[in-house]
Amino acid sequence: MNFSIGCDHAGPAYKTIIINHLKERGFSVKNCGTDGPESVDYPDFAHTVANDVSSKDSELGILICGSANGVAMTANKHSAVRAAIAWTPEIAELARTHNDANVICIPARFISEKEAVSIVDSFVDAKFEGGRHARRVNKIACGVLALLLGISTSFFSIAQTSLDYSQTLDSTKLRAHLSILASDEFEGRETGTRGAELSALYLENYYSKLGFQPYNGKSYTQDVPMLNSQIEGGTMDVAGVELNVVEDFLLYPGINKTSTMDMPMVFAGYGISGDGFIEDDYSNINVEGKCVVVLQGDKRNKNTEIETNTTAKREIAESNGAAAFVVVMPNSDYATFKGRMKFYMMRKSTILNRSKEGEGASIPTFFIRESDADVWFNSTKKIKNCSKLNKRADKKGVISTGNLSCNFNYTLDVTREEFIGKNILAYMPGSDENIKDEVLVITSHYDHIGIVDGEINNGADDDGSGTVTVMELARVYMNAFKNGDGPRRSVLFMNVIGEEKGLLGSEWYSDNPVFPLEKTIANLNIDMIGRVDEAHSDDDNYIYLIGSDKLSSELHEISETANSTFTNITLDYTFNAPDDPNRFYYRSDHYNFAKHNIPVIFYFSGVHEDYHAPGDDVEKILFTKTTNIGRLVFHTAWELLNRDDKITVDRVSDFKN
Ligand SMILES: [Zn+2]
Repeated sequence: MNFSIGCDHAGPAYKTIIINHLKERGFSVKNCGTDGPESVDYPDFAHTVANDVSSKDSELGILICGSANGVAMTANKHSAVRAAIAWTPEIAELARTHNDANVICIPARFISEKEAVSIVDSFVDAKFEGGRHARRVNKIACGVLALLLGISTSFFSIAQTSLDYSQTLDSTKLRAHLSILASDEFEGRETGTRGAELSALYLENYYSKLGFQPYNGKSYTQDVPMLNSQIEGGTMDVAGVELNVVEDFLLYPGINKTSTMDMPMVFAGYGISGDGFIEDDYSNINVEGKCVVVLQGDKRNKNTEIETNTTAKREIAESNGAAAFVVVMPNSDYATFKGRMKFYMMRKSTILNRSKEGEGASIPTFFIRESDADVWFNSTKKIKNCSKLNKRADKKGVISTGNLSCNFNYTLDVTREEFIGKNILAYMPGSDENIKDEVLVITSHYDHIGIVDGEINNGADDDGSGTVTVMELARVYMNAFKNGDGPRRSVLFMNVIGEEKGLLGSEWYSDNPVFPLEKTIANLNIDMIGRVDEAHSDDDNYIYLIGSDKLSSELHEISETANSTFTNITLDYTFNAPDDPNRFYYRSDHYNFAKHNIPVIFYFSGVHEDYHAPGDDVEKILFTKTTNIGRLVFHTAWELLNRDDKITVDRVSDFKN
């Protein structure tokens, strides 16, 4: 048996004696403070103990203050807690045998230390008798909840059911799973490694044991074709001049095509065209199947977004049919860019192996210096050199375009290795024939960053915490399902692969959805919910919510109500602002649903000093906090799955896709 014990300034001496006594009896005891004589506020300690008991981190709680009233009142605000005040051993015993109390409150100013110890002993040794007492105890929560909700009795019975199930979300199970998934044996779960494969097996086996049926009749997994590629070297050969990779040219990693021979080339000025632009650098040229060369920046549109947006320029080239893309940079910019790109370019990168599906990845994209481009331009009369091109654009607002007389050749020495990653899917069909084709998707990513410089990154928080929470949600929903309380709509619990490589598993799912996206009502994504960031160092009862109000006002309302009714976590919307520089909205798997206009909520407790580092270990996870957030997800999902009307998309997101 294990205990949590806490007190205010009236109780430290009593607490020490009780802790020692319980330890002598062989029990484990968590001391929640306070330990000194300074005046403190009793609710701070009573809530901690009550949280431990609610989440089943501790079986029983002990609270001490002057009269025992304050701590008892506080603890009893927690719906899973039954706190009793006892000033004699007989009352303590009855609190257990008749009332199934799980917290005992001791009035330090009215009894001796010796009496306190015997009160604790009779509380610990007594057993709940059940029977008629169980019937009465079951009625206690109703009163509390009705007051709490202040709403109609029909909703009330649903709320009672969901509350009952949510209380069975079990922090000890979260800890047990995480101690396995985030152990060194799983080698940091990097996509494409043995650790990720082991994790996939663990998850599949788990969902199968819970009683989930394979979503397609055969399997719990969705194959995600992937490719590891690494550039070992390479050359570019144009107009009789050979350039070397890194030294003379840079490229975007994840390149699909490793060589080309005598590709025709065309100069497209600054590479601007299409809606929203006055200039159209593509108006007089045909770039179909050619290598498009553009200058960086835009002297005609200084200080505009397009001036710095190379990605947008590449997309314009691609949409005009270009087969390759080269950006010409001022020599000094090239040096800086090289310093930044070298590492990313030459490391092993993992991408979706789309060639299998007949889909092309983005076109090969290169960066070179102006001085090298001038050699190319010299071969063509009309184009002149970079400095003249820029000057004319600056003064007159025009830039020449046209075919180049040279051809484009490059060869990259790339090692490639194809493999299959796995998304893990646990699907629960809805109970209502009319709406069971509507699906809620609850996600986490189970991959992490693996072994770096010989050190294992266990990723307990990122995203072990989300993964074990999804597992535990699946278990609780399965219990409800088996009891005939399964949700009306269908729910898909999904642990995805490849998040750390660029949200690959969820991208694949959203491109190849098992259940139609039009019928996917929302995605609740849990990624890192087990730690505390700097901004909340003095209170761990918070969570950042991202996305909840972007597409559906109802989703936001449901989430807020679930929290105010059941969980009372501080909801922090700091990262929900579209101009937040961290851009977390784009950085986890919900994004691949949001971009298809599916309402999402991203649950996230922020970064910490062990983010993507070997110190992200199980010992540092706050399981009570994680459990509470799991309950918030549980209640939000419950409402989304059981309400009559599915939530509507009634807003246009202010996050750009
Ligand atoms: Zn993550």
